[in-house]
Amino acid sequence: MQDRSWTAERLARCGLPHDDACALCDQEEETMQHLLAGCSFSRQVWHEILGWARAPIGLPVPDTPLQLWWSSSLDLVPASMRNGLSSLIILSAWWIWKHHNTCIFEGARPSITFTSNTIKDEAHLWAKAGATGLQNIIPGA
Ligand SMILES: [Zn+2]
Repeated sequence: MQDRSWTAERLARCGLPHDDACALCDQEEETMQHLLAGCSFSRQVWHEILGWARAPIGLPVPDTPLQLWWSSSLDLVPASMRNGLSSLIILSAWWIWKHHNTCIFEGARPSITFTSNTIKDEAHLWAKAGATGLQNIIPGA
């Protein structure tokens, strides 16, 4: 949210070695806004996860800060879904970022299936551990 993660754009600003292209889609400049909202890879992950949770909201908007999309999305869902949806958004953003790092530092190939399944598995673990909001929105919790 504060744009302090080490994306290619921030590495460039600090004169550090980097690859300009996004590690997930290899198509656009890698900014945090791109990684979480505009990236074709990430958008497919969001589509999968939001559909899985049957969240009646649209995908993140490429030119709108993620936190604005997040807060306006919460206004669109019933109060009983808001905590769970927030948890799912945090979890998804975190795993997109972690998968990005795995691709850069461990040479993994970007995988929508791996990332989506990891988010779903983690959401189930959080729900089992007592995240009641998630229990309200994810299937089989
Ligand atoms: Zn990308």
